[in-house]
Amino acid sequence: MRLLLLGGTSEARALAADLVDAGIDVTSSLAGRVARPRLPVGKVRIGGFGGVLGLRAALADYDAVVDATHPFALGMSTNAAAACTDVPLLRLERPGWAPDPAWHHVDTHAAAATAAASLGSRPFLTVGRQELARFVPALGGLPALARVVDVPTIQLPPAWQLVTDRGPYTLAAELDVLREHRTDVLVTKDSGGSYTRPKLDAAAELGVAVVVVRRPPAPAGVRTVHDVADAVAWVKSLSCRELA
Ligand code: NAP
Repeated sequence: MRLLLLGGTSEARALAADLVDAGIDVTSSLAGRVARPRLPVGKVRIGGFGGVLGLRAALADYDAVVDATHPFALGMSTNAAAACTDVPLLRLERPGWAPDPAWHHVDTHAAAATAAASLGSRPFLTVGRQELARFVPALGGLPALARVVDVPTIQLPPAWQLVTDRGPYTLAAELDVLREHRTDVLVTKDSGGSYTRPKLDAAAELGVAVVVVRRPPAPAGVRTVHDVADAVAWVKSLSCRELA
């Protein structure tokens, strides 16, 4: 059993570790977006496949695929769904955060920018560097704090402060960040998981408004599980079928 694991998430790293322990031949795939990625155990390949056709060609070397990419990595998930016509595909997607009635949900980053502008004047943007440009028109003149893993390629407005950091975060540290910046509105996407959850608890404690971008709809018809143990069970069941 040769498994291609589309990764870039903590779940993907946990799954790789469990599958390597179970003796499965796993190759984790990373996009190559961040300068110093956290590497999973087992084999790793880095870089895009070259769209659906490139991925389909790469699948000649694999017996199954688990797509454990981030819930907002829709391009990769869409390509996987399109390319895996003859290879079993499982989607491992962490659940979104249980919604708080006080949060302002929006469908797009552009709508998040507009909502944030109406809710506060000191926004804290935790949406990833690729999305920052969408916040410039509405928030460019405000003293925003933008937290990213790697420095963005776009020129940020002079009023903005950039922090490079990477989770997991703690509640105490997030309270400090919000207090020091005097944040009055926090913007996030519904990434889910525990690594970046404390900012939401800190915002609730300090009465900071929260804008949450909803997840994009996932490709239809892909078998999906929400925790690592279920993904391990799926791979093992395929592996047993191969041996039988
Ligand atoms: P995306 O927009 O869905 O994907 C764009 C292209 O990047 C894909 O078509 C593919 O290129 C390449 N790609 C993406 N993930 C890949 C992977 N795991 N292995 C090989 N190629 C990959 O992706 P994204 O939102 O920029 O996310 C990139 C990576 O960062 C993903 O692995 C994701 O799990 C991780 N990540 C994303 C977020 C987020 O908020 N989007 C947050 C945390 C981690 P080709 O078409 O050339 O194959």
